[in-house]
Amino acid sequence: MMNTYPGKIYATESFGAVDGPGVRFIVFLQGCRMRCRYCHNPETWQEGKYSSYTLQYASDILREALRYRTYWKNGGGITVSGGEPLLQLDFVRELFTLAKERGIHTVLDTAGNPFTTAEPFFSKFKKVCEVTDLFMLDLKEMNEQKHQKLTGQTNKNIHDMARYLSKHGHAMWIRHVLVPGWTDTKENLTALHDFIYTLHTVKRVEILPYHTMGTVKWEKLQLPYTLSAVVPPTEAEIIRAKQLIGAFD
Ligand code: SF4
Repeated sequence: MMNTYPGKIYATESFGAVDGPGVRFIVFLQGCRMRCRYCHNPETWQEGKYSSYTLQYASDILREALRYRTYWKNGGGITVSGGEPLLQLDFVRELFTLAKERGIHTVLDTAGNPFTTAEPFFSKFKKVCEVTDLFMLDLKEMNEQKHQKLTGQTNKNIHDMARYLSKHGHAMWIRHVLVPGWTDTKENLTALHDFIYTLHTVKRVEILPYHTMGTVKWEKLQLPYTLSAVVPPTEAEIIRAKQLIGAFD
């Protein structure tokens, strides 16, 4: 059965160009337990107070996505993003299973926070791995205390997930949001470089420069934005970060 678990869909994007190879249909899922200070989708955090979503089944989403298939050249396809897609593994498995039956490239864009080897998560996660061509994994800060301060959550299980993907041969892109004064220290970027170097299936390492485009959403939601004093990194700072982390594509 491929229509057992409806997804909580926050939004879709027909022509995504930055969330995986080629042009992609992006499905943004509702819900995330992290509280990244720079989050540009805070409306996906919680139900009720902040957000609205629609419940949709995998076959309905696939039907919508297929309208754009002729644009999926150069490795394009479907990306599930968030929010945090790992909170809706049953839906993702159904959608990606349908996609793979049609030869469509699948990308899971995740921050890894729900990852655990405890059940029932782990078995469901392994099934999703079977139908996911590429993981895009955000690594936000290597120092545990700083990670907690930046996101409200530990980074230990996120690193476990990266190691699991590497050990089991699952391709991944690593992404790091460069936040001046927060995630751009030499210690962090060097530690990221060293950690990424231990992984065997990393196909790309990207720096995503911090930007302020999401701040209006925080205002609208009446959430206190704590990075208002932070300015986006300069081109020179981005180049330095790329060199320290060992960015490549
Ligand atoms: S993991 Fe992503 S969606 Fe969740 S709070 Fe952080 S930036 Fe926002």
